[in-house]
Amino acid sequence: MIDFNVPPFTGKEYEYMRMAVESHKISGDGQFTKKCSRWMEERFHAKRVYLTTSGTTALDMAALLCDIKPGDEVILPSYTFSSTATAPVLCGAKLVFVDIRPDTMNIDEKKIEAAITDRTRAIFAVHYAGVAAEMDEIMEIAHRHNLLVVEDAAQGVMSTYKGRALGTIGDFGCYSFHETKNYSMGEGGAIVINNEAYNERAEILREKGTDRSRFFRGQVDKYTWVDFGDSYLPSELNAAYLWAQLEKADEIYDDRMHTWECYDRAFRPLEQEGLVSLPVIPEYDVHNAHMYYLKFRNLAQRTEFIAYMKERGVQTPFHYVPLHSAPAGERFGRFHGVDRCTTSESERLVRLPLYYGMKEEDRETVIRAVLDYFTV
Ligand SMILES: *Cc1c(COP(=O)(O)O)cnc(C)c1O
Repeated sequence: MIDFNVPPFTGKEYEYMRMAVESHKISGDGQFTKKCSRWMEERFHAKRVYLTTSGTTALDMAALLCDIKPGDEVILPSYTFSSTATAPVLCGAKLVFVDIRPDTMNIDEKKIEAAITDRTRAIFAVHYAGVAAEMDEIMEIAHRHNLLVVEDAAQGVMSTYKGRALGTIGDFGCYSFHETKNYSMGEGGAIVINNEAYNERAEILREKGTDRSRFFRGQVDKYTWVDFGDSYLPSELNAAYLWAQLEKADEIYDDRMHTWECYDRAFRPLEQEGLVSLPVIPEYDVHNAHMYYLKFRNLAQRTEFIAYMKERGVQTPFHYVPLHSAPAGERFGRFHGVDRCTTSESERLVRLPLYYGMKEEDRETVIRAVLDYFTV
Protein backbone atom coordinates (compact mmCIF):
# COMPACT_ATOMS: atom_id res chain seq x y z
CA MET A 1 0.00 0.00 0.00
CA ILE A 2 1.32 3.47 -0.83
CA ASP A 3 0.47 5.63 2.18
CA PHE A 4 -0.63 9.17 1.60
CA ASN A 5 1.85 10.42 4.20
CA VAL A 6 5.16 9.31 5.71
CA PRO A 7 6.55 11.57 8.47
CA PRO A 8 9.66 13.46 7.36
CA PHE A 9 13.02 12.17 8.59
CA THR A 10 16.33 13.60 7.37
CA GLY A 11 18.91 11.58 9.32
CA LYS A 12 20.21 13.97 12.00
CA GLU A 13 17.18 13.70 14.28
CA TYR A 14 18.66 11.05 16.64
CA GLU A 15 21.94 12.92 16.97
CA TYR A 16 20.22 16.17 17.92
CA MET A 17 17.82 14.45 20.28
CA ARG A 18 20.78 12.75 21.98
CA MET A 19 22.49 16.15 22.29
CA ALA A 20 19.38 17.46 24.05
CA VAL A 21 19.39 14.52 26.45
CA GLU A 22 23.11 14.84 27.17
CA SER A 23 22.85 18.58 27.77
CA HIS A 24 20.47 17.77 30.65
CA LYS A 25 17.91 20.14 29.19
CA ILE A 26 14.85 18.38 27.87
CA SER A 27 12.14 20.82 28.96
CA GLY A 28 11.30 23.79 26.74
CA ASP A 29 13.16 26.86 25.48
CA GLY A 30 16.64 25.32 25.36
CA GLN A 31 19.19 25.45 22.54
CA PHE A 32 17.08 23.65 19.92
CA THR A 33 13.95 25.67 20.54
CA LYS A 34 16.08 28.81 20.17
CA LYS A 35 17.70 27.57 16.97
CA CYS A 36 14.31 26.75 15.45
CA SER A 37 12.65 30.02 16.37
CA ARG A 38 15.65 32.17 15.31
CA TRP A 39 15.77 30.27 12.02
CA MET A 40 12.13 31.05 11.30
CA GLU A 41 12.52 34.69 12.33
CA GLU A 42 15.40 35.14 9.91
CA ARG A 43 14.12 33.05 7.06
CA PHE A 44 10.58 34.44 7.12
CA HIS A 45 11.47 37.99 8.22
CA ALA A 46 9.20 37.43 11.20
CA LYS A 47 9.50 39.75 14.17
CA ARG A 48 8.94 37.05 16.79
CA VAL A 49 8.37 33.30 16.66
CA TYR A 50 7.58 31.04 19.61
CA LEU A 51 7.46 27.27 19.34
CA THR A 52 4.29 25.70 20.73
CA THR A 53 3.10 22.20 21.50
CA SER A 54 0.94 22.07 18.35
CA GLY A 55 -0.62 24.10 15.59
CA THR A 56 -3.81 23.88 17.62
CA THR A 57 -2.26 25.48 20.72
CA ALA A 58 -0.62 28.15 18.53
CA LEU A 59 -4.17 29.00 17.40
CA ASP A 60 -5.36 28.91 21.04
CA MET A 61 -2.63 31.39 21.95
CA ALA A 62 -3.62 33.62 19.06
CA ALA A 63 -7.28 33.58 20.10
CA LEU A 64 -6.34 34.46 23.69
CA LEU A 65 -4.02 37.25 22.51
CA CYS A 66 -6.87 38.62 20.38
CA ASP A 67 -8.71 38.95 23.70
CA ILE A 68 -11.81 37.31 22.26
CA LYS A 69 -14.61 37.44 24.82
CA PRO A 70 -17.80 35.38 25.19
CA GLY A 71 -20.31 36.58 22.62
CA ASP A 72 -17.71 37.99 20.24
CA GLU A 73 -17.85 36.74 16.68
CA VAL A 74 -15.03 35.31 14.63
CA ILE A 75 -15.15 34.94 10.85
CA LEU A 76 -13.57 31.84 9.32
CA PRO A 77 -14.04 29.37 6.48
CA SER A 78 -16.04 26.20 7.15
CA TYR A 79 -13.72 24.17 4.96
CA THR A 80 -10.91 23.74 7.51
CA PHE A 81 -9.65 21.57 10.34
CA SER A 82 -11.46 21.76 13.68
CA SER A 83 -8.49 23.55 15.32
CA THR A 84 -9.22 26.79 13.45
CA ALA A 85 -12.62 26.77 15.15
CA THR A 86 -11.81 25.35 18.59
CA ALA A 87 -9.43 28.20 19.42
CA PRO A 88 -12.06 30.98 19.29
CA VAL A 89 -14.67 28.62 20.77
CA LEU A 90 -12.46 28.16 23.87
CA CYS A 91 -12.72 31.93 24.36
CA GLY A 92 -16.51 31.76 24.08
CA ALA A 93 -16.74 33.13 20.57
CA LYS A 94 -19.56 32.54 18.14
CA LEU A 95 -18.30 31.26 14.79
CA VAL A 96 -19.43 32.88 11.57
CA PHE A 97 -18.57 30.67 8.62
CA VAL A 98 -18.04 32.27 5.24
CA ASP A 99 -18.05 30.45 1.91
CA ILE A 100 -14.82 29.49 0.12
CA ARG A 101 -13.55 30.24 -3.37
CA PRO A 102 -13.84 27.24 -5.69
CA ASP A 103 -10.34 27.77 -7.14
CA THR A 104 -8.05 27.89 -4.08
CA MET A 105 -10.52 26.43 -1.53
CA ASN A 106 -9.68 29.45 0.69
CA ILE A 107 -12.14 31.85 2.34
CA ASP A 108 -13.85 34.01 -0.28
CA GLU A 109 -12.58 37.47 0.62
CA LYS A 110 -15.44 39.07 -1.31
CA LYS A 111 -17.96 37.52 1.09
CA ILE A 112 -16.28 38.54 4.34
CA GLU A 113 -17.50 42.10 4.67
CA ALA A 114 -21.20 41.17 4.55
CA ALA A 115 -20.63 38.79 7.50
CA ILE A 116 -19.22 41.49 9.80
CA THR A 117 -21.42 42.70 12.67
CA ASP A 118 -20.69 44.97 15.62
CA ARG A 119 -19.72 41.83 17.59
CA THR A 120 -17.04 40.75 15.12
CA ARG A 121 -13.59 40.68 16.69
CA ALA A 122 -11.31 38.74 14.34
CA ILE A 123 -10.89 36.97 11.01
CA PHE A 124 -9.21 33.56 11.04
CA ALA A 125 -7.96 32.96 7.49
CA VAL A 126 -6.68 29.53 6.44
CA HIS A 127 -4.04 28.99 3.76
CA TYR A 128 -5.33 25.70 2.41
CA ALA A 129 -2.72 23.36 0.91
CA GLY A 130 -0.07 26.02 1.57
CA VAL A 131 -1.69 28.32 -1.02
CA ALA A 132 -2.31 31.82 0.29
CA ALA A 133 -5.71 33.31 1.00
CA GLU A 134 -6.16 36.81 -0.51
CA MET A 135 -4.33 38.58 2.30
CA ASP A 136 -4.24 42.11 0.85
CA GLU A 137 -8.02 42.28 0.69
CA ILE A 138 -8.46 40.53 4.02
CA MET A 139 -6.08 42.96 5.77
CA GLU A 140 -7.79 45.90 4.16
CA ILE A 141 -11.22 44.75 5.36
CA ALA A 142 -9.79 44.14 8.84
CA HIS A 143 -8.30 47.64 9.03
CA ARG A 144 -11.50 49.20 7.85
CA HIS A 145 -13.48 47.45 10.58
CA ASN A 146 -10.83 47.41 13.28
CA LEU A 147 -10.54 43.61 13.37
CA LEU A 148 -7.59 41.39 14.18
CA VAL A 149 -6.37 38.81 11.65
CA VAL A 150 -5.04 35.37 12.52
CA GLU A 151 -3.45 33.34 9.74
CA ASP A 152 -3.89 29.61 10.10
CA ALA A 153 -0.70 28.85 8.20
CA ALA A 154 -0.53 25.31 9.62
CA GLN A 155 -0.01 24.05 6.08
CA GLY A 156 1.81 27.14 4.83
CA VAL A 157 5.36 26.92 6.20
CA MET A 158 7.76 28.12 3.46
CA SER A 159 5.00 29.50 1.23
CA THR A 160 4.81 33.17 0.27
CA TYR A 161 2.18 35.68 -0.82
CA LYS A 162 3.52 38.56 -2.92
CA GLY A 163 6.96 37.79 -1.55
CA ARG A 164 5.94 37.69 2.11
CA ALA A 165 6.07 34.48 4.15
CA LEU A 166 2.67 33.11 5.11
CA GLY A 167 2.14 33.65 8.81
CA THR A 168 3.88 37.05 8.81
CA ILE A 169 1.07 39.11 7.26
CA GLY A 170 -1.78 39.11 9.80
CA ASP A 171 -1.48 40.09 13.46
CA PHE A 172 -0.66 36.48 14.31
CA GLY A 173 0.41 33.48 12.25
CA CYS A 174 0.16 29.84 13.30
CA TYR A 175 2.27 26.96 11.99
CA SER A 176 1.95 23.23 12.56
CA PHE A 177 4.75 20.69 12.78
CA HIS A 178 2.49 17.69 13.08
CA GLU A 179 3.78 14.54 11.38
CA THR A 180 1.49 15.15 8.39
CA LYS A 181 2.95 18.58 7.68
CA ASN A 182 5.96 19.45 5.51
CA TYR A 183 8.27 19.93 8.51
CA SER A 184 7.64 17.97 11.65
CA MET A 185 8.46 17.47 15.31
CA GLY A 186 5.84 14.78 15.88
CA GLU A 187 3.42 17.11 17.58
CA GLY A 188 4.29 20.80 17.61
CA GLY A 189 3.76 24.20 16.11
CA ALA A 190 4.71 27.85 16.33
CA ILE A 191 3.07 31.22 16.68
CA VAL A 192 4.36 34.26 14.80
CA ILE A 193 3.72 37.56 16.58
CA ASN A 194 3.74 40.31 13.97
CA ASN A 195 2.66 43.12 16.25
CA GLU A 196 5.33 43.80 18.87
CA ALA A 197 2.76 45.11 21.31
CA TYR A 198 1.76 41.48 21.97
CA ASN A 199 5.23 40.04 22.67
CA GLU A 200 5.18 40.36 26.43
CA ARG A 201 1.63 39.08 26.73
CA ALA A 202 2.57 36.12 24.55
CA GLU A 203 5.56 35.25 26.76
CA ILE A 204 3.46 35.37 29.91
CA LEU A 205 0.66 33.35 28.37
CA ARG A 206 3.10 30.70 27.17
CA GLU A 207 4.92 30.49 30.52
CA LYS A 208 2.02 29.56 32.81
CA GLY A 209 1.07 33.16 33.46
CA THR A 210 4.48 34.09 34.88
CA ASP A 211 7.04 36.70 33.84
CA ARG A 212 9.72 34.02 33.68
CA SER A 213 11.02 35.25 30.32
CA ARG A 214 11.69 38.71 31.73
CA PHE A 215 13.44 37.02 34.67
CA PHE A 216 15.75 35.08 32.34
CA ARG A 217 16.62 38.32 30.55
CA GLY A 218 17.48 39.91 33.90
CA GLN A 219 14.66 42.45 33.67
CA VAL A 220 13.14 41.38 37.02
CA ASP A 221 14.96 39.80 39.96
CA LYS A 222 12.43 37.07 40.62
CA TYR A 223 9.60 35.74 38.59
CA THR A 224 5.99 35.76 39.68
CA TRP A 225 2.53 34.86 38.56
CA VAL A 226 1.21 37.96 36.81
CA ASP A 227 -1.71 36.93 34.54
CA PHE A 228 -3.70 33.99 33.21
CA GLY A 229 -1.70 31.55 31.21
CA ASP A 230 -1.03 28.03 30.07
CA SER A 231 1.93 25.85 29.13
CA TYR A 232 2.70 25.97 25.44
CA LEU A 233 6.42 25.07 25.45
CA PRO A 234 7.33 21.94 23.54
CA SER A 235 10.07 19.69 24.91
CA GLU A 236 13.62 20.11 23.61
CA LEU A 237 13.40 16.52 22.33
CA ASN A 238 10.73 17.60 19.87
CA ALA A 239 12.56 20.82 19.00
CA ALA A 240 15.72 18.79 18.29
CA TYR A 241 13.75 16.65 15.85
CA LEU A 242 12.43 19.80 14.16
CA TRP A 243 15.89 21.35 13.92
CA ALA A 244 17.06 18.44 11.78
CA GLN A 245 14.23 19.27 9.39
CA LEU A 246 14.71 23.04 9.30
CA GLU A 247 18.40 22.59 8.54
CA LYS A 248 17.26 20.76 5.42
CA ALA A 249 14.25 22.93 4.73
CA ASP A 250 15.19 23.61 1.12
CA GLU A 251 15.98 19.99 0.37
CA ILE A 252 12.60 18.92 1.77
CA TYR A 253 10.91 21.71 -0.17
CA ASP A 254 12.57 20.77 -3.48
CA ASP A 255 11.81 17.09 -3.03
CA ARG A 256 8.11 17.69 -2.35
CA MET A 257 7.91 20.23 -5.18
CA HIS A 258 9.38 17.70 -7.60
CA THR A 259 6.64 15.19 -6.79
CA TRP A 260 3.99 17.92 -6.96
CA GLU A 261 5.20 19.00 -10.40
CA CYS A 262 5.36 15.44 -11.71
CA TYR A 263 1.72 14.97 -10.71
CA ASP A 264 0.77 18.29 -12.21
CA ARG A 265 2.45 17.58 -15.55
CA ALA A 266 0.89 14.15 -15.73
CA PHE A 267 -2.65 15.32 -14.95
CA ARG A 268 -2.95 18.62 -16.85
CA PRO A 269 -4.09 16.79 -20.01
CA LEU A 270 -6.96 15.23 -17.99
CA GLU A 271 -7.99 18.71 -16.94
CA GLN A 272 -7.84 19.97 -20.52
CA GLU A 273 -10.24 17.19 -21.47
CA GLY A 274 -12.57 18.36 -18.72
CA LEU A 275 -12.25 15.13 -16.73
CA VAL A 276 -10.93 16.57 -13.48
CA SER A 277 -10.02 19.87 -11.78
CA LEU A 278 -6.53 20.48 -10.41
CA PRO A 279 -5.03 22.87 -7.83
CA VAL A 280 -5.01 26.54 -8.82
CA ILE A 281 -1.99 28.60 -7.75
CA PRO A 282 -2.53 32.38 -8.11
CA GLU A 283 0.38 33.98 -9.95
CA TYR A 284 1.73 35.96 -6.99
CA ASP A 285 1.75 32.91 -4.71
CA VAL A 286 4.69 30.63 -4.18
CA HIS A 287 3.36 27.48 -2.56
CA ASN A 288 5.20 24.78 -0.64
CA ALA A 289 3.87 21.60 -2.26
CA HIS A 290 2.03 20.69 0.90
CA MET A 291 -0.69 18.85 -0.98
CA TYR A 292 -1.69 17.62 -4.39
CA TYR A 293 -5.37 17.06 -4.96
CA LEU A 294 -7.81 16.18 -7.72
CA LYS A 295 -11.40 17.32 -7.89
CA PHE A 296 -13.98 15.04 -9.46
CA ARG A 297 -17.42 15.76 -10.84
CA ASN A 298 -19.23 14.92 -7.62
CA LEU A 299 -19.27 12.84 -4.46
CA ALA A 300 -20.32 9.63 -6.21
CA GLN A 301 -17.43 9.76 -8.65
CA ARG A 302 -14.98 10.59 -5.88
CA THR A 303 -16.17 7.60 -3.83
CA GLU A 304 -15.70 5.35 -6.83
CA PHE A 305 -12.20 6.73 -7.44
CA ILE A 306 -11.09 6.19 -3.83
CA ALA A 307 -12.25 2.56 -3.97
CA TYR A 308 -10.51 2.08 -7.32
CA MET A 309 -7.23 3.50 -5.98
CA LYS A 310 -7.43 1.29 -2.92
CA GLU A 311 -7.59 -1.74 -5.19
CA ARG A 312 -4.51 -0.42 -6.98
CA GLY A 313 -2.73 -0.16 -3.59
CA VAL A 314 -2.85 3.63 -3.21
CA GLN A 315 -4.29 5.50 -0.23
CA THR A 316 -6.20 8.60 -1.39
CA PRO A 317 -8.08 10.24 1.49
CA PHE A 318 -10.60 13.00 1.09
CA HIS A 319 -10.34 16.03 3.30
CA TYR A 320 -12.51 18.14 5.56
CA VAL A 321 -16.20 17.65 6.05
CA PRO A 322 -17.28 21.31 6.36
CA LEU A 323 -17.39 22.38 10.00
CA HIS A 324 -20.80 24.05 9.80
CA SER A 325 -22.38 20.68 9.06
CA ALA A 326 -20.63 18.97 12.02
CA PRO A 327 -22.48 18.74 15.38
CA ALA A 328 -20.12 21.19 17.11
CA GLY A 329 -20.23 23.55 14.15
CA GLU A 330 -24.01 23.71 14.40
CA ARG A 331 -23.74 24.37 18.11
CA PHE A 332 -21.04 27.04 18.06
CA GLY A 333 -21.60 28.74 14.75
CA ARG A 334 -23.69 29.75 11.81
CA PHE A 335 -23.01 29.89 8.09
CA HIS A 336 -23.32 33.40 6.75
CA GLY A 337 -25.05 33.63 3.37
CA VAL A 338 -25.37 30.80 0.89
CA ASP A 339 -23.15 27.73 0.92
CA ARG A 340 -22.43 27.89 -2.77
CA CYS A 341 -19.00 26.23 -2.85
CA THR A 342 -18.02 24.94 0.60
CA THR A 343 -19.98 21.68 0.57
CA SER A 344 -20.01 21.00 -3.15
CA GLU A 345 -16.28 21.67 -3.66
CA SER A 346 -15.24 19.73 -0.55
CA GLU A 347 -17.17 16.68 -1.78
CA ARG A 348 -15.21 16.65 -5.04
CA LEU A 349 -11.72 16.72 -3.55
CA VAL A 350 -9.31 13.83 -3.02
CA ARG A 351 -5.66 13.97 -1.94
CA LEU A 352 -2.81 12.02 -3.51
CA PRO A 353 0.18 10.60 -1.60
CA LEU A 354 2.88 13.26 -1.23
CA TYR A 355 5.73 13.23 1.26
CA TYR A 356 9.45 13.93 1.54
CA GLY A 357 11.50 11.09 0.10
CA MET A 358 8.69 9.56 -1.92
CA LYS A 359 10.22 6.99 -4.27
CA GLU A 360 9.99 7.58 -7.98
CA GLU A 361 8.45 4.15 -8.56
CA ASP A 362 5.71 4.88 -6.02
CA ARG A 363 5.00 8.20 -7.67
CA GLU A 364 4.80 6.47 -11.04
CA THR A 365 2.43 3.87 -9.59
CA VAL A 366 0.12 6.66 -8.41
CA ILE A 367 0.27 8.47 -11.75
CA ARG A 368 -0.35 5.30 -13.74
CA ALA A 369 -3.33 4.33 -11.56
CA VAL A 370 -4.94 7.78 -11.95
CA LEU A 371 -4.45 7.78 -15.72
CA ASP A 372 -5.82 4.24 -15.96
CA TYR A 373 -8.92 5.24 -13.99
CA PHE A 374 -9.80 7.69 -16.72
CA THR A 375 -9.04 5.41 -19.66
CA VAL A 376 -10.84 2.22 -18.61
C1 LIG B 1 -2.79 20.57 10.88
C2 LIG B 1 -3.67 21.74 10.96
C3 LIG B 1 -3.98 22.35 12.19
C4 LIG B 1 -3.59 21.77 13.52
O1 LIG B 1 -2.23 21.56 13.72
P1 LIG B 1 -1.78 20.50 14.82
O2 LIG B 1 -0.31 20.72 14.89
O3 LIG B 1 -2.14 19.14 14.31
O4 LIG B 1 -2.45 20.82 16.10
C5 LIG B 1 -4.75 23.50 12.18
N1 LIG B 1 -5.22 24.02 11.03
C6 LIG B 1 -4.95 23.45 9.84
C7 LIG B 1 -5.49 24.10 8.60
C8 LIG B 1 -4.19 22.28 9.76
O5 LIG B 1 -3.96 21.73 8.58
